[in-house]
Parts: sequence; C-alpha cells; structure tokens
Amino acid sequence: MTALLEAIDVSVHFATRAGKVRAVEGVSLAVAAGEVLALVGESGSGKSTLGFTLAGLQSPTSGAVAYAGRGLDRAGWRSVRRDIQIVFQDPFGALDPRMLVGDIIGEPLRVQQIGTAAERRARVMQLLDQVGLPAESAQRFAHEFSGGQRQRIAIARALAPRPKLIVADEPLSALDVSVQSQILNLLADIRAAEGLALLFISHDLAVVHHLADRVAVLYLGHLVELASRDELFERTAHPYTASLLAAVPRLGRKRTRGGLSGEMPSPLAPPSGCVFHPRCPKAQDLCAESAPLLREVTSGHAVSCHFPLGGQG
Ligand code: SF4
Repeated sequence: MTALLEAIDVSVHFATRAGKVRAVEGVSLAVAAGEVLALVGESGSGKSTLGFTLAGLQSPTSGAVAYAGRGLDRAGWRSVRRDIQIVFQDPFGALDPRMLVGDIIGEPLRVQQIGTAAERRARVMQLLDQVGLPAESAQRFAHEFSGGQRQRIAIARALAPRPKLIVADEPLSALDVSVQSQILNLLADIRAAEGLALLFISHDLAVVHHLADRVAVLYLGHLVELASRDELFERTAHPYTASLLAAVPRLGRKRTRGGLSGEMPSPLAPPSGCVFHPRCPKAQDLCAESAPLLREVTSGHAVSCHFPLGGQG
C-alpha cells in the first residue's frame, strides 16, 4: 500500500481551564491513494480532531502528518492545499449564505489561481452537473437550498480543484434520513469516477460498511483496531469494535450481550492501562495496569488489546 496521507504518532492535546484534554493519543495510520478509510468511534473518540489534523486544520501537539512521503510543515501544507479538501458535517454552517452558489464552488479555484475566469465558470457548470444540481443553481444563494442540496454544493466545492483526497467529517449526520442515502451514493459514484481517496469520518457503521475499504476504530483518542472492512466486520478483534457492531441491527447481526455500557470517560482524566477497561466486558486485572500496544494479529489487521476476540493474538 502506497501511503498518500499519513498520521505518524500524532497526538493532539488541548489546554483548558479544567486541565489538558487528550483528544488524540499517538495515532499512526495511512490513507492510500484511491481508498476509502473510515474513521469510526463514538462522539468524543477523537475522530474529527484526527480528521482535522490530517486535513491541516489542526496542528498536532506531537507527531507529524506526511503527504506522499513528505512531512508537512507550514510551507508544505500550502503546497498540498489543492490536493486535500474537506467536506464538513453541517452544510448550513459551511456555506456563506450571502454568496452565489457559483462563486462558492469556484472559490477554491479563484483562491488558488487555477484556470482563467472562463475556465473556472465552465468547471463550476461541470461540477453542478456532476453533483446532480441544475446549471441555474450557480445564480442562486446557498440559503435557497435544502440540506441535501447544500451538501451537494459543498461536495462540488471540495471537488473543484481536483483533489487527490477528501476528508469528509460526518457528511450525512446533519441530513434527513431520506437524503442520506442519496449523498452516500453520490460520494461512492464520485470516488469511483475520480479515483479519489476519502477519509470518511462517521459514527454510523452501516454507512461505513457500505462505503469503506478499510476501517480505523478510535476510542478516547486511541486507535484500537484497524483492518479491511470485511476483516473488521467478520473477524472483529477488539471488544470495543464488537460493542459498536452489536448496537447496529441493520448489519444483520443479532443483538448480542456485550453492547456498550456506561459513558465514555473524560479525556481530561483517561483511565489507566487500557483506556477501554472500565467499560470492557472482557477486562482482566492486567487491563487496568498495562496499556496494550497496537499489533498485527493477521496481515493488515491491527488491534490494541491484551485479549483480542476470536483467539486472535
Ligand atoms: Fe478489554 Fe483488556 Fe482488551 Fe482493553 S485490553 S479491550 S480492557 S480485554
């Protein structure tokens, strides 16, 4: 696998009045060219913070982000800005309601001085068609559109500079259920047509099952499992992943015991040892004392657990 975008031992901490919030702790993972890597976990797992760090919107406290094998400093980020775009969760907040849709979609091209004015206008028309909006949308304001249509506009804007990778932060969760599958299918079509890589941040495992090639599971800022989609869903090794899956009857699994209980602990005071141990149905004494390391249990399937499920270990 040739890595396009990499997190290398990335930690992100925030200083607050209450203390240090450890949002992401020592995560290493890579997105390959053309693949869909899903980042999953509950609210507070650190998935959006890690996604924003990989999109260059947040600086890591320690560790590094690399693109095409090159570590990115400030100048490095400027040089790859065009290649990495982002689609935000909230299509209402992400688009300036006072701008014409054509200007919104063309903005990245204008800012990065890509093409002539005529070429930019032509590209906007092509993008509107690609995301399923009529050409006259260019002359209307974003506030005139529904949530699903606004997310199509946001996707068109992200596609405008022909990026190599899009970071999509929960792009469906603010939309009506009836529209979610349309946007999901649009993302799948675009990915297939453009050969784009997608870092897809989601708490919805049914959606992830539909779209992802590989899945990274985060818990309290830690990467706890990383595998191909089929491997992760069929040979789940981490008890936290198993608990998440047990809560999704849509995936055709029976509800099993061992679903998630209790609240996620505060990232201000993470538990000792394995951070999942207060909620883990498989926890043993060792788990509170010693933090497990992420290790491969089979080729391409890594898990951070002293006692992985299915005898994988
Ligand atoms: Fe559960 Fe222990 Fe594995 Fe952590 S290390 S997930 S507490 S069994």
